[in-house]
Amino acid sequence: MAETICAHCGTTITHRETLQESGGKTYCCRNCAAMASGRTSEGSGQPVCAHCESAIVDETTAVHRGSDTFCCANCADAVSAGTTQRLA
Ligand SMILES: [Zn+2]
Ligand SMILES: [Zn+2]
Repeated sequence: MAETICAHCGTTITHRETLQESGGKTYCCRNCAAMASGRTSEGSGQPVCAHCESAIVDETTAVHRGSDTFCCANCADAVSAGTTQRLA
């Protein structure tokens, strides 16, 4: 089965409960969907994901691990699994 990856941050989507579809693309969570659509304001002091740096506008999917905050469980797992993909 093909992996589903976020169209914004490239994170492998293993937690489909936070998956968002917008404009025919698939995102790991609402935070990346919001980033992709430009619905976030820069420099407003919002926390950002420690993995993909998306602004966390939807705290309901946020995951806190230690001192790090992730936009959703997909990013948290990507870091702990050591499968971080660098987007060029
Ligand atoms: Zn994402
Ligand atoms: Zn993230």
